[in-house]
Amino acid sequence: MSERSIEVVLDIQKGNLINAEKFFALPEDKVFKGRRKLEEYNQRNEPLLVCSCCYQPVKIRGREQGFISIHFAHFVDSGDCPYKSYNKYTKDEIERMKYNGVKESPLHKKLKYFITDSIKLDNRFSNVKTDEVYKGNGLLKEWKKPDVSGKFNNTDIVFEIQLSTTFLSVIVKREEYYKKNNTFIMWFFNQFSTDEDSQRFTEKDIIYSNNNNAFIINNETISITNANNKFIFGCYYIEPYLENNCVKRKWQYKTVSIDELKWDYENYKVYYYDSEGETKKLKNKLEYSFIEEFKTLIINEDNFEWKERYRLYQLYEHKFAQKGILFEASSTALKKIIQAILCLKLNDKIGYENDNVLGLSNTILEYRKEYYGIYIKALKCYNKYNDVLQRDEKKGIFKKKLSKLQSEKVEQETRYNKLFQILFPELII
Ligand SMILES: [Zn+2]
Repeated sequence: MSERSIEVVLDIQKGNLINAEKFFALPEDKVFKGRRKLEEYNQRNEPLLVCSCCYQPVKIRGREQGFISIHFAHFVDSGDCPYKSYNKYTKDEIERMKYNGVKESPLHKKLKYFITDSIKLDNRFSNVKTDEVYKGNGLLKEWKKPDVSGKFNNTDIVFEIQLSTTFLSVIVKREEYYKKNNTFIMWFFNQFSTDEDSQRFTEKDIIYSNNNNAFIINNETISITNANNKFIFGCYYIEPYLENNCVKRKWQYKTVSIDELKWDYENYKVYYYDSEGETKKLKNKLEYSFIEEFKTLIINEDNFEWKERYRLYQLYEHKFAQKGILFEASSTALKKIIQAILCLKLNDKIGYENDNVLGLSNTILEYRKEYYGIYIKALKCYNKYNDVLQRDEKKGIFKKKLSKLQSEKVEQETRYNKLFQILFPELII
């Protein structure tokens, strides 16, 4: 039975995978130059391209005549390989073999030991190990071999380097595994493109599942680490911003240290910038921007002639209604109490003639009895209550009115509680 051709080979020098189909689709001169280079390496017994499953060196074989086209092949005397006896191994096993193969590249090894040495500089790290077998604490006898593992204070963490990002299934399984074992996982890339078209699928998957943060170790961060005697790495993150009433996003870059990371104990991931949280905040801000606009309208309503004012109030009634909050903005009593609360909040005398907060308070307690409860709350919340009591000391009108309302248990308007909650969340606990 003829041997199956090798679909993917590993450039052991650079740590990246080469797809056979793509490679042999290159212009003929490139393929043959490559073949010559590979031949030279093989003759020197120096590995260049190896099988992605068994890591044995490969050669490029082709027949000038006949039915076999040009392809990667094992040497005749090579050992066993899943490509030779395909049915012996499951797809998962083959993926894992390929994944582990990438870890054999010199660059991968260099970065692995760099991380190990760097975190050892920090005495909050203990039990730092390279390539140590990690056993889960469940009944499952599953184990993994992370590039670097250790404890940061009392938290278990593993570091994995991702030079080749072909292995989504392995990565997803790893993340789930460590999460199940209450262990943080931090991925490092050695290069990163912020051009989303050229980002590979797996890269995107890691980034998106990591709060849009991607950690980098490259020559620059290695120099910074060495110069500072402290582990410093790069972080690319997506920062949202508002433009034309839309949330847009842009990539940012910063060199950061372990101290600047936030620990997400729900997903067992670390991040520098809370990209999702900030995006949510901006979306909320956009969604609820009409609330501040409505307050501004109430403050400035005298600036509009009645027709325009009417149109605007209707517009906001509609916007609030979409959030399930119904009210008639033209209701004078309601508008007056909102204005009074805004007076207190903004230290202004919106729509009221009173010179001071005592005058305003007496007016409300006299004419807006059905809202006195929320008004008193606002006095206290915006630190005006003591001022009112002091000014009231001489005549005692406010005190008298308030105790009368309290003893009579004057019924309060509750229809607009939802509206007050959204306008003045600080008043409603
Ligand atoms: Zn092989």
